[in-house]
Amino acid sequence: MDDLSRFCCLNAHCPDHGKRNHGNLTVPARYGPNKTRVLRCRTCKARFSERKGTPLFDARLPAARVTAVLAHVAEGIGTRKTARLTGVHTNTVTRYIRRAGQHARALHDELVAFSPDDPRSAVR
Ligand SMILES: [Zn+2]
Repeated sequence: MDDLSRFCCLNAHCPDHGKRNHGNLTVPARYGPNKTRVLRCRTCKARFSERKGTPLFDARLPAARVTAVLAHVAEGIGTRKTARLTGVHTNTVTRYIRRAGQHARALHDELVAFSPDDPRSAVR
């Protein structure tokens, strides 16, 4: 039995959107070399990858390699050093840093009830 307690329906129009551990998700299929799960919502019938919205979504690298890249970056190792140590291109490191940053922002917005305004977020 798959543990789906950390997942929720991602369809914004679904009545069960965002409800974790609600019992509305099933695993009708798997895909790719990592056997990534396809999740299906019983309420709205939407299907989506378990990786949707994460840095691993549509990743070409194996999950372990992406994790290694991000672990190096999280330890404060620069882009070029990370690229050399993990054997990927510097552009690849940058791409995953951006994805991880977007994911971290979305997670922050969900988990932190109130955070002060950041003037930097107004400038893009
Ligand atoms: Zn749904």
